[in-house]
Parts: sequence; structure tokens; C-alpha cells
Amino acid sequence: MPLKYRSTRSTQGLGSFQDILLEGLAPDGGLAVPEQIPLVPPQTIESWLEKGYAGLACSVLSCFADDIPTEDLDRLTRSAYQAEKFGGHTEIAPLRHLGEEGQTNIALLELSNGPTLAFKDMAMQMLGELFEYVLSKEGSRLNILGATSGDTGSAAEYAMRGRSRVAVVMLSPEGRMSAFQRAQMYSLQDANIHNLSVPGSFDDCQDLVKAVSADLPFKQRHCIGSVNSINWARIASQVVYYFAAYGQAMRLYGLRFGAPISVSVPSGNFGNVLSGYVAKRMGLPIGRLVVATNENNVLDEFFKTGRYRPRSSAATHITSSPSMDISKASNFERYVFDVLGCDAERLARLWEELRANGEFDLSDAATQSAIAQSGLVSGASHHAARLETIRDCHQRYQRVIDPHTADGLYVARRYLERGVPMICLETALPSKFEETIVEALGHGIARPVGLESIESLPQRVKPIQNDVELLKRYIAENTPNA
Ligand SMILES: *Cc1c(COP(=O)(O)O)cnc(C)c1O
Repeated sequence: MPLKYRSTRSTQGLGSFQDILLEGLAPDGGLAVPEQIPLVPPQTIESWLEKGYAGLACSVLSCFADDIPTEDLDRLTRSAYQAEKFGGHTEIAPLRHLGEEGQTNIALLELSNGPTLAFKDMAMQMLGELFEYVLSKEGSRLNILGATSGDTGSAAEYAMRGRSRVAVVMLSPEGRMSAFQRAQMYSLQDANIHNLSVPGSFDDCQDLVKAVSADLPFKQRHCIGSVNSINWARIASQVVYYFAAYGQAMRLYGLRFGAPISVSVPSGNFGNVLSGYVAKRMGLPIGRLVVATNENNVLDEFFKTGRYRPRSSAATHITSSPSMDISKASNFERYVFDVLGCDAERLARLWEELRANGEFDLSDAATQSAIAQSGLVSGASHHAARLETIRDCHQRYQRVIDPHTADGLYVARRYLERGVPMICLETALPSKFEETIVEALGHGIARPVGLESIESLPQRVKPIQNDVELLKRYIAENTPNA
């Protein structure tokens, strides 16, 4: 019996993994989640941890994509996770010891050695393989419509460029990405890649995507799919590196299996930390999962008070960790669903309240206890702290970290426990956010080979108004149909 998926807002079944692969949203507006998160016996996890990254990915993903034959999944994971695509690192996501603070080992999990220098590549490279696999089996094609605040868009485009059955239409907020991020995306000249820039914020872009996706006949006619942060296959692919981190922490720090680690996660759309939560629910010994936000501290407020009050796009701060400049954390719904004991009816009421009043409250004792049980804790960072953390990490550990990773380290330091290694996720390389590095250190750093002058390459981007009908027309005129 393959694992079935359902919506967070009703008991409606959504089929198996391949049925939800090309979809983010459920028809009722909820998100696809597995009917049960598979609980893996400790001995099985221990045997997984002996494997290389691709083998581990195959084992983890076979829990969620059990409708794909293991031989096929094995081939797909080996193709996605080749050392050459990840800066030549055979571990794919190497764990590096930084140092000891107050008898706690602190380490950095490198997730940014892929083609676009941010952790989004970890999932997107896998998604590229999965999409091609399913589409060629069905003889169909897909037009991916997405919104990006920078890193998702480029990761999707690099994973899909040149693929024959896929086109990408990516909306990005005008003027809100770094010069390097813009260059990375807009310099792609592949015919199947379409960059559109929208005046407004990431949330405006995401609302446009949602509006197009809500028009089901249009969506079907134009084979629209998504790769944004609500795509479950991305969440599942990200679960893998939490296991890889644990295996490496065991070897690096001589842990026996079962000893906890904590993980600090620079968070925006809540996808990365949700993957960590799923890993924990599968049985991986994670103690604390630290949700680190920037000045857009909606999630921090929730974990501190139980109130969830997403901001409007106009009230969203533009910060020096821009990939976390998000006011509505789209994956948060999946976490709330789980801590409410998969009560879809209550969840649907909460989101109805959110729509009507702009907020909801989960400060009741029972829910607070479930949240405490879940291991998630939080903190917010800000510009001065970010700069100071980059400086301090450079001085103390001779390691330059990017602004998002710095937010993670800054907040992690409040949650250190004696003897429990703290793993900080490196969500981007510092070269990607050079302006802030120069501000912190007084000098820039060497770019990875081949990217030295990416800003001077010709760029291909089309400005478009914040208007659903115009976007639909663009899609209809510029992407192939089935
Ligand atoms: C996307 C991104 C984040 C936020 O991750 P979420 O999964 O959206 O919470 C953090 N840092 C960087 C560099 C990113 O690209």
C-alpha cells in the first residue's frame, strides 16, 4: 500500500507521491501532507547513516515516494547528487567543526555548494530529476510558475534549464534582490527559462502565482505546476541533509546513536525547518530546532506568544538577509496541522480566522505544550547583530559566513546546551551577498571559480505589471501547451 497524501484542511485524499509531485496546493486551499509521517526504527536509521549522500537520499525519499520503484529512485538520486554539481564535495553537504563555546561544539552544515550557491539547490536538483522522470513516463510536459525572493528562482532555473519537457516562468520582486542574485537568474539564456520582474514584494509575486493557480481550467490548459516552497517533494528532499548532518556529527564528535543534536535554521517560508521537523518525527534524534528569523519576526512572535500575525507585504522589512524577507510563511500550515494532531477541521477554522481577522491565537495550554514537545524554539536577528556575527565568526573561526547563516548562528547561541552539538545550517555562500560582507569585514571575498564577473553578462528579464490577466496572457503566448 503506497503512502497516501491528504490535505491539511480536509480529510480529502490527494493520491500518492507522483500525484502530488507537480502540485503544491490541495484543491480546498490546504497543503498536501502524508497521511502519516513514517516512523523509522533506530537500527534502520543507523544503517542509512553508513551510506553516501545519494544512497541516504534514496532511503529517505523511498519513505515518501514509495510509488517510485527503488531502482529508479536510486538512479535519480545518484544523478541529482553528484560531487561535480556540488563543488566537488563527495559528502555533498559536508559538516565542518567551527569551535567550542561553553562546552558545546558548534558546526556548520554546508548546504550551499550547488550551482546557485544556496541551499535551495539541495532540493531543486532532485526535483529536476523527479519532474523529468514523471513527465517522460506520462509523455506530458510542464510549465513551472513560481515566485522568488532570490534563491528559489535561480535554483529552479538551474535545475530545469535545457530540459525538454519543462519551461520555467519565474516572478521576482523588482529591486529587492542583490546584484549577484539578479545576474545569476537573468543571465540565463535558455529558451525554456522566462524571468519576469514585478513591482512589489515577494508576497505580491506569490499572490500572482496563487491567483493563476486558482484558475483551474487555465492551469490545466497550460500545464501549470509549481516548485515554490510549498512543493512537498522539496520538503522531502531537504529531510535528507538532516540525516546526513547527524551521521557526520556522530563521526566528528564520537556520539553514539540516540544522543541528541540541535540544529539552527535561518527561516523564511518555513520549508527548511519543516524538513528538520519531519526528520525528527521520523525518529532522527534532534533535540532543539532553532527557528532563526531576521527583522521579519512573525515566526519568532508566534513561538514566543502563540499569536500568528503575518504582516502585509507593505509592512515587510527589506533587510540585509533578503531571502528571509517573508511575512507569510507558507509551510507553517503543515507544522500547525501536525501539532494540532492532524485536526483538519480546526486547522481550516484557524485559516478562515486568519483570512477574516489577519491573525489567530494558539496560546491555549494544550497547544503550547504540543509546541514545546515539538522541539521548536525561536529567536530574531537584526542588521547590527548580523554584521557582528559575521565579524566574530571570521575572527574566531577564520570562516566567512553569509548574512542568513549569521542570523542562524546569532540565534543559535541563545540555545546552546552542554554536550549537545549545535549544527548551524549554511543556507548560502557569502559571495552571494557581497555588499553585506564588505560592510561587516571591510573587504570582499573571492568568488567561486567561474562566477567572478557574472554581473557583466547580458541579462534577459521582462518587467510585468502586478496583474493576473497580464501574467496569464504572457504564459499563454510564450510557453508551449500540452
Ligand atoms: C530560502 C532561504 C532561506 C529561508 O528558507 P525557508 O525554507 O524559506 O525557511 C534562508 N536563507 C537563504 C539563503 C535562503 O535562500
